[in-house]
Amino acid sequence: MATLYIVPTPIGNLEDITLRALRVLREVRLIAAEDTRTSRVLLDHFDIKTPMTSYHEHNKLAKLDAIFAALAGGDVALISDAGTPGISDPGYELIVAALAQGVRVEALPGACAAITALVASGLPTDAFAFLGFPPRKASELRAFFEAIRNEPRTVILYESPYRLVDTLQAALAVLGAARPACVGREISKLHEEYTRAPIGEVLAYYQSHTPRGEVVLLIGGAPPPVAQAWDEARVRAALAARLDEGEPLKVAAKALATLSGWDRRTIYGFGIEEES
Ligand code: SAM
Repeated sequence: MATLYIVPTPIGNLEDITLRALRVLREVRLIAAEDTRTSRVLLDHFDIKTPMTSYHEHNKLAKLDAIFAALAGGDVALISDAGTPGISDPGYELIVAALAQGVRVEALPGACAAITALVASGLPTDAFAFLGFPPRKASELRAFFEAIRNEPRTVILYESPYRLVDTLQAALAVLGAARPACVGREISKLHEEYTRAPIGEVLAYYQSHTPRGEVVLLIGGAPPPVAQAWDEARVRAALAARLDEGEPLKVAAKALATLSGWDRRTIYGFGIEEES
């Protein structure tokens, strides 16, 4: 059975292509490329002669039949202009259609600006949300940040350098100047730069250094909400119940301090009042 290979290509440095990607690109019968002129440079660099056809945002549905016709006769590889196809790049519709038709789909691991920037950012990597490009319209951009105001995971966004300052301003207005952030610019290229600082400082930096090249914006997750402190009556009632059950005052005060948000010594004082 033929295989549709999803092949990541470099996001800058041409060395960031795997040996397996080069072999697959050489061996398939056809390469579906987002922009055949852009990919020609890459293929020429590695002396790969495989025929190409275009597969981009504007023909991605019309082109499906031609790609399936090619798959009937052998393997096909999908590449985008840079990075991993399907990640803010064409690929999703083809992959879904291929799976629906019983075509084997194999994605190769490789370059992706979002993951590279995340790892270098110094922001938590244990949980993250990749949200692609944020909206351009000011009202939608603000609503976008409102929607992620309490998001606890690191948020990864792709952005154009021309909109970066506006986007940072909107982020600051909603999330505040102190939220940790990072901009990864020109990753893997000559002028690679990471700006790791609170949103306010990142914004100030890019207001005085016009951003050029490609950028990834990362925003640290919202801190966990502060537990709502109990009112005094609730603390006293809970303490009385524990003391009635024979729990020592010291133990009860400590446990309730954690639960209620009240100071341990204050709760201890309530206990002394109860006993007197
Ligand atoms: N499919 C690609 C990937 O796997 O990363 C992303 C394609 S998307 C159309 C292009 C966006 O990715 C850029 O606007 C930028 O936000 C980000 N990007 C791509 N290459 C980058 C680089 N070398 N440095 C920083 N950001 C990059």
